[in-house]
Amino acid sequence: MNTDTPVWKCAVPTPLRRLFDYRPPKGWNGKATPGMRVTVPFGRRSLTAIVVQEARDSDIPLAQLRSASSVLDISPLYPRPLLALLQWAADYYQHPVGEVLPVGLSPGERRGKPERSVAEAGLTLTERGQGLPAGAPHNARKQAALIDRLRQGPVGLDQLKTEGFARSICQALLNKALATTCDLAIAQRWESLPPPFTANEEQQLAITNILAALGQFSVHLLYGVTGSGKTEVYLQSIAACLTRGQQALVLLPEISLTPQTLARFEARFKAPVLALHSGMGDAERDKTWAAARSGRAAVIVGTRSAVFTPLMKPGLIIVDEEHDPAFIQQDGLRYSARDIAIKRGQLEDCVVVLGSATPSLESWQNADTGRYQRHVLSQRAGLGRLPAKHLIDISGLSLSAGLSNEIIGHIDRVLTDGQQALIFLNRRGFANALVCHDCGWNAECQACDARMTLHKAPPGLHCHHCGRRHRLPATCAQCGSARLVGSGIGTQQTETFLSERFNAFPVVRVDSDTMASRAAMPALIERLKSGEPLLLIGTQMLSKGHHFPDVTLVAIVDADALLFSPDFRGEERLIQLVTQVAGRAGREEKAGEVFIQTRQPDHHLIAQLDAPYHQLLPALLAQRLQAGLPPHGALGVIRCDSQDKQEGLDFLTELRKHAPAPPGCRIIGPVLAAMARRKNRYRCHMIVAASHRGALAHGMRALVASAEGTRHSSKLNWSVDIDPYESL
Ligand code: ADP
Ligand code: ZN
Ligand code: ZN
Repeated sequence: MNTDTPVWKCAVPTPLRRLFDYRPPKGWNGKATPGMRVTVPFGRRSLTAIVVQEARDSDIPLAQLRSASSVLDISPLYPRPLLALLQWAADYYQHPVGEVLPVGLSPGERRGKPERSVAEAGLTLTERGQGLPAGAPHNARKQAALIDRLRQGPVGLDQLKTEGFARSICQALLNKALATTCDLAIAQRWESLPPPFTANEEQQLAITNILAALGQFSVHLLYGVTGSGKTEVYLQSIAACLTRGQQALVLLPEISLTPQTLARFEARFKAPVLALHSGMGDAERDKTWAAARSGRAAVIVGTRSAVFTPLMKPGLIIVDEEHDPAFIQQDGLRYSARDIAIKRGQLEDCVVVLGSATPSLESWQNADTGRYQRHVLSQRAGLGRLPAKHLIDISGLSLSAGLSNEIIGHIDRVLTDGQQALIFLNRRGFANALVCHDCGWNAECQACDARMTLHKAPPGLHCHHCGRRHRLPATCAQCGSARLVGSGIGTQQTETFLSERFNAFPVVRVDSDTMASRAAMPALIERLKSGEPLLLIGTQMLSKGHHFPDVTLVAIVDADALLFSPDFRGEERLIQLVTQVAGRAGREEKAGEVFIQTRQPDHHLIAQLDAPYHQLLPALLAQRLQAGLPPHGALGVIRCDSQDKQEGLDFLTELRKHAPAPPGCRIIGPVLAAMARRKNRYRCHMIVAASHRGALAHGMRALVASAEGTRHSSKLNWSVDIDPYESL
C-alpha cells in the first residue's frame, strides 16, 4: 500500500533473506540516507539495523508498522561504494543482507556505538604565517622559533609541548592568525622513503603499467617467482598512490606468521600504516576502522576481512599470494576476499594488483583472456637463484620416519657444510592413526567420521576435525591387545627421528602445535638469522611468504599426498605447495636444491615438477574445461548439517523436487559429504553446476527461495556456498 509517511526498508541482523519495514522514529522529520544505523524493535529485542532505502510503500498496513526507536547516525558510516559492495556481496553470495551489511562496520559500531574519534590536534602555518620573512617576528624570539619549526609542516600540539613550545606561544600565533589548528593526520603529506635499490627491468615494466593505470579500475596479475621482488613492486606502486593522496589496501593471507612483510610496509612510508588482523581487540579495531574511514590511515595491511575496511579515498588494492586458500571465508558469509577485492576495485575506480608465484587457475585464465593485465617477474631480484628440483622415487624403499637414505644423506651433507635444511611434511602430530596390530582396529573420533591423530608431546589422541582430545588407550578397544602402533608419519615423528639422527644440530618443528603463540614465529625468524646450521621440519606453514636466507636444501617428504585428494583442486594445490616450499631455498647467495620424494615418478604432474609453474597450467586448465569445472562454468552448493543423518538429505531432496533445474544448470546430489559426520553433525550437500555465471545466479536464487519456504526442524542448518573452495 502507498502511504504519505516514509517507510524505511532496513537490513536487520537476522538470518532471514529480506528487508524489514519500519516507520521513522516519532518526531523525526528529515530524510533517511542509505547506510544510516538505526535502533529497531525486533520481536522483543532491540537491534542495530541499517536503513537501505526510504520508500513510500509497504506490504504491511501502515498502522501495523513499528517505528524505529532511534537514529544512530545522521551521516552514514558507510562510504557509498562500500555499501554498494556489501549489497552486491549479499546478492552474489545469496546471503542474508542483514548479516552482510554489518561486516562493513567495526565491532563497536555493530553494537550501536558511535564512531571512535581518532583526530589528533596539530598546529600548522596559515598562508600569512608562511609569507613572513625568515626570523620574523623579530620582537618575539620564541614565536619566531615556532614559526620556523612549523615551516617543515604541521606538528602535533603534544609534540610541540615536549619540544619546549609552551601553550602560550602557540596561542600567540593563533591570535595573530599566523597559525591555525588542524587534524594532524589529515594535514600531513604522505611520503615514502626512496627505494633501497633500482627496480630491474621487469619490475620497472610492472610498476610503470600499474602507475599508468591509477585513477581507474583495472586488474593486474603480477606473476613473479618466489623472491623476484613482487613486494618491491607493491611498495613503489603504493608510494605513487600515496603521492596522489589516495589510500592503499594490502591483503595478506596471514599477518602473525609473516611479521617481516608488515615491517617492510611500515618502514617504507612516512605515513600511517595500520594493520588489521584477527588477534586485535575490539577497541583497536574500532580505532583502525575510524582512521581508515576518515582518510587518516594511508595504508591498511590486513587479512581477508580487511577487504571490507571503509576507505575515504582508495586508489590501490593489493592481494598478495592471491592463490592462498586463507582468502576464502568458509563459514557465515562464505566469500573470497580476492574476488571481493576485484569487485571493490570496480566500484571504487581503483587499481587491483594480484600477486603470486603460483597464481590460481582462475586468475591465470583471466589473464589469458585479457581481463587482467599480466606482468611477469621471471628472475630472482637479489642474489638468489631458483633452486634445481630433483625427484626421488621411494617406491619399494625402506624409509626412516618417512625419509629415504638418499634424503638423509643430503641433509647430512648440508648440515656438515654449516647450512640449514627445511623438511616439508603436511601432516602434524606423530602418526595419522593408532592401529591395533592384531585386529586392525583403529582409534576413531566419537564425534567425527575420522581417525584420531596420535600425538607424542604431550601424549594423546587428537581429532584434527573437532579438536577432541583423549588419553592414549593402553589396549585395543576391540580385541584387548596391547600391540597398538602408529600408522602414517606426522611431523612429530620425523622431528623425533631427525633429532636422534642429527643430534649435534637443533631441530625446530613448525606447525600449528608449536606456532600457536603469536610470538613463536618472530622468535623463530630471529633465531634463523644467526645462520647456525639447523633443521626445520614443518607443515604448509613453512610455505607462507617467509624469507629463510640460509636454507639451502628443501625436502618434500610426501608429494603424493595431494595427488589423490578427492578435491578437484588437489593437483593445483600440489604444484602451488611444491613451488612455494621450494621457493624457500637459496634466497641469498648460496644456491639451493629441492628434493621431492614420490612413489609416482611417472605421473604427468610429478614428472614435470621441475618445470616453471606456469608451464603446468595449460594441462590443468584443459582438464577443468573437460570436466566443466571452474574456472570454466560456475559452481554453487547448498550445504546442510543436522544431528540426524537422513534429515539433511530429505530436506535437499524435497528442494530438488520443487525447484527443477533451471536452464543452463545441472543439479548433482544430494549426497553425504566425504566425511559425513563432524562434531556430531551429519553434513550433506547438493551441487549446482552451471555453464555460466548468470545461469548459476538464476538457479541458485530459485533454490534458495524454495529453501526459505521449506519447513524444517530447528536442528537443521542450511547454507549457500557460491564458488565453493572446500572439497565437495
Ligand atoms: P617476493 O615478494 O617476490 O618474494 P621480495 O620483494 O621479497 O620478493 O624480494 C626478494 C629479495 O630481493 C628481497 O631481499 C628484496 O629486498 C630484494 N630485491 C627486490 N628487488 C630488488 C632489486 N631490484 N634489486 C636488488 N634487490 C632486490
Ligand atoms: Zn585389536
Ligand atoms: Zn572429531
